Amino acid sequence: MGGFMERHEAVIEALRLRLPADRIVLSAREVSAASSDQSDLRPVRPLCVVRPRHVDEVQRLVQVAIEFRIPLTPRGAGTGLEGACIPSPGAVVVDFTAMDDVHEVLPEERRVTVGPGIVYQHLNRLLSAHGLFFPPSPGGSADAATIGGMVSTDASGIYALRYGGTRPWVLALEAVTGTGEVLRLGRAVPKTSSGYDLKDLFVGSEGTLGLITRVTLRLAPLPLDRRQAGFAFERIEHACAAASWMAAFIPELAAVELCDADTIALLRSRRGHGSLPAGHCLLVEVHGRAQDCEDGIRSAIEVARDHGGTPLPADLRDPLDLRHWTTRRIRESAEPLGVMRTDCAVPLTHLARFVADAKRLAQEHARTLYVFGHVGLGIVHALMPLAGPGAWTMEQALAEKRRLALEAVSLGGTVSGEHGIGLGNRDLLAAEHPGALPYMRGLKTLFDPHGVLNPDKVLPTDL
Ligand SMILES: Cc1cc2nc3c(=O)[nH]c(=O)nc-3n(C[C@H](O)[C@H](O)[C@H](O)COP(=O)(O)OP(=O)(O)OC[C@H]3O[C@@H](n4cnc5c(N)ncnc54)[C@H](O)[C@@H]3O)c2cc1C
Repeated sequence: MGGFMERHEAVIEALRLRLPADRIVLSAREVSAASSDQSDLRPVRPLCVVRPRHVDEVQRLVQVAIEFRIPLTPRGAGTGLEGACIPSPGAVVVDFTAMDDVHEVLPEERRVTVGPGIVYQHLNRLLSAHGLFFPPSPGGSADAATIGGMVSTDASGIYALRYGGTRPWVLALEAVTGTGEVLRLGRAVPKTSSGYDLKDLFVGSEGTLGLITRVTLRLAPLPLDRRQAGFAFERIEHACAAASWMAAFIPELAAVELCDADTIALLRSRRGHGSLPAGHCLLVEVHGRAQDCEDGIRSAIEVARDHGGTPLPADLRDPLDLRHWTTRRIRESAEPLGVMRTDCAVPLTHLARFVADAKRLAQEHARTLYVFGHVGLGIVHALMPLAGPGAWTMEQALAEKRRLALEAVSLGGTVSGEHGIGLGNRDLLAAEHPGALPYMRGLKTLFDPHGVLNPDKVLPTDL
């Protein structure tokens, strides 16, 4: 114990020598707030939090980490859902929220350079004055998630169907590696064929290869017009089949989201959503000129009708607003233990069967399985409550999470469509990438030879 305290003091002392005093956060409240993310995985209290403001401070922090062999756990807003920013034991949390500057906006080039701590929604509010936006919206966490967190998880969201996830919008980034070196990757042009693309490797690397200190993003023009619609279905496989058709054949489609009947039943209790019918719902948004939007909605109505869907009541003016509340509402309903979740993705041809089988199995065992997600991309969020009606035991939930992920992989899909690997999906990575894992380990060693960057995340320990 004495040794631990002495080491703790020595690390804090070294940080004080290298960084301005106000960057080092020791208050019990703030250290405790940095112990968890929005998953229900076990919190781990870090040694302290450091809130850098400049890249050279991040470099000095990495030097201290190397000297004392302490893990660094980067953190944006902590809205991640797989434990990727839960501190490693004894870690210093690197909180990037103070590095939230807008360094440069170039509307004529549809380009912006920002600090990693800027919040997604805040950035888009600023960009709207130029008629531009950064499209991959992380839905219910849009008002908190940072650009650094989004880049590090390759986040996507409701509009990824039309615009893709975060990766294609990242033109360049600056990162401090595990040796303390500053790397500037990518260029300020939309396309390059120059050498290995290390910038894309950092996107989605969950803070395990480098600490991102600056990001240059490509931007899209705001849609000229947008319209939404919603449809209810008696059978979930019909809703999924309709979503697959819409995704394939309606070019104006920007989003098609599924909320199953159990999720809808929870949402119905919210103010303004009382008129929701029983059944599984598809929520649709189209972007384009006014006429395009009209055509897109007309096509969506036809496809829904062909699959047995009926339009949602007209008083639901903003059907996609429902999706904003799903994750939070389900989690609240499962207090105090929360949920076990998966966010696997399957090819669209397998979507209807995959979802219907999962629902049927849960029903046969009298357990509740909430299913929703960006089904136009095959991304299925399946949430298992660990408390409340139809609760799963931890053991049952872990087994089902594994079963769903392995099934997704066997169908050609992935264990994580957007939330990342973090801690929660680490044991599943080998099933998806048996041949690539040694190369991933080699890359980790190359960029982080001392193993100080978010060390126990992404890669399984038993490799
Ligand atoms: C209600 C709700 C809805 C959500 N909906 C979606 C959705 O639709 N789509 C989606 O993709 N996600 C969604 N998420 C998950 C989450 O919001 C995203 O993963 C988001 O990108 C995380 O951003 P963050 O700033 O909170 O990052 P954090 O959770 O703080 O960190 C995420 C990862 O990024 C790393 N990291 C953060 N900053 C840096 C940096 N500067 N350098 C290096 N590594 C860094 C962390 O170490 C960690 O590995 C949702 C979450 C909630 C709570």
